[in-house]
Amino acid sequence: MAKGYSVFSLLKHALKPDSAWPQAWEKPQPRSSYDVVIIGGGGHGLATAYYLAKNHGITNVAVLERSYIGSGNAGRNTTIIRSNYMIGGNTNFFEFSLKLWEGLSHELNYNCMVSHRGQVVVAVSPVQMDVFARRGNIMRLNGIDAELLDRGETQKLLPYLDYSKEARFPVWGAIHQPRAGTARHDAMVWGYARAASQLGVHIIENCEVTGMVMDGNRVTGVETTRGRINAGKVGIAVAGHSSHVARMAGLKLPVESHILQAFVTEPVKPIVHHVVSWGAELFYLSQSDKGGLVFGGHIDGFNTYTQRGQFFKIRDVMECAVSLMPFMSRMRLLRHWGGIQDMTPDGSPFICRTPVDKLYLNGGWCYQGFKATPASGWTFAHTIAHDAEHDLNRDFTLDRFEKGGELDEFGIGNWTYKQ
Ligand SMILES: Cc1cc2nc3c(=O)[nH]c(=O)nc-3n(C[C@H](O)[C@H](O)[C@H](O)COP(=O)(O)OP(=O)(O)OC[C@H]3O[C@@H](n4cnc5c(N)ncnc54)[C@H](O)[C@@H]3O)c2cc1C
Repeated sequence: MAKGYSVFSLLKHALKPDSAWPQAWEKPQPRSSYDVVIIGGGGHGLATAYYLAKNHGITNVAVLERSYIGSGNAGRNTTIIRSNYMIGGNTNFFEFSLKLWEGLSHELNYNCMVSHRGQVVVAVSPVQMDVFARRGNIMRLNGIDAELLDRGETQKLLPYLDYSKEARFPVWGAIHQPRAGTARHDAMVWGYARAASQLGVHIIENCEVTGMVMDGNRVTGVETTRGRINAGKVGIAVAGHSSHVARMAGLKLPVESHILQAFVTEPVKPIVHHVVSWGAELFYLSQSDKGGLVFGGHIDGFNTYTQRGQFFKIRDVMECAVSLMPFMSRMRLLRHWGGIQDMTPDGSPFICRTPVDKLYLNGGWCYQGFKATPASGWTFAHTIAHDAEHDLNRDFTLDRFEKGGELDEFGIGNWTYKQ
């Protein structure tokens, strides 16, 4: 079992630079049966396994990942964390998640590089300033930090925007959440994996689930590329593949799979000290620790599982980048990549039981699953352990569309111009 990381282990390895660090998580052979099988070794699957063991004492758990852990959206996102939500159901859940992020490095004994650099969403019209004031007031009433900035205050924080009279989208002000920021995505994955493994969870990579084993309306196990694995309970946490995997148990989900692309420029000296989003279009940007500007926009807009983005969207996102931050026209783009997003009709997720007995669903994360990971794992573990929703995920059910309980905060990333 891996020992805890500490200043002493750092010193030891500094003095003996050739000595190998112990393997961070074990690579066991799959057992024939587990109390709980989680499908999907992204952040949500691993966090769920960790909290099953930590909060509920359920340690006979396997996380089955078809590739390597973090190979899906957990390792492909733009790493933004925030809790600027407005609708009951979302508000407390995402604020709880941000609070878990605040202590996550200590909790996992793994540096998740959480940076509370603040998120500033720039308003481009007086109407948008009203909308931001409303959102900010609701956030503050819910105990969430929010500040409304006028044009001058915005200019102090973001001096590199276009404040000229000719600006295509004039800056009117902004809304600022100081506790928002970024975290290191793969560190979160590795941290949860290591901590879960230390509690006895099996993390099985290169193990694709190809079918469900059913006994009437009850799931009793999964078929995998490494053989059948029986399970008392099965949790699905496969993001863009939710519909595909749920279909194995006969479930049709209200989820569409779309590509979302992200981009990074060449590294430059520190210039952007916040997460910056924009009210004119869906656009978000931050500067990585290496110096690259990391940014993204909308989904490509058609259903696909290809995990590769299209050129028309690259052009759209570059137009946003240069309109908001003209200096970016002189920068070189280094890389771009895509991830398969699980989009729901109302932009909000599912963390719930399903009509199939002992089958549980975590998915429909749209643009917002990274920031949700700790609370998602926490509440999904609760739902699996107790066969009931936790207070915080009470509204993230599959039947909310039948009951008129939509949580219509679409994609939230793009709330700025949709309201
Ligand atoms: C470009 C981009 C930018 C984003 N930016 C942000 C952001 O800034 N902030 C934010 O909050 N969110 C962001 N998101 C969304 C966020 O990344 C996702 O919602 C979140 O990472 C989903 O995590 P997950 O663990 O559910 O999924 P994943 O990390 O995708 O994990 C699912 C895993 O399931 C595995 N799997 C699939 N099918 C099977 C099978 N049959 N058997 C076994 N394993 C299987 C996959 O290989 C994958 O590893 C972004 C997404 C993208 C694509």
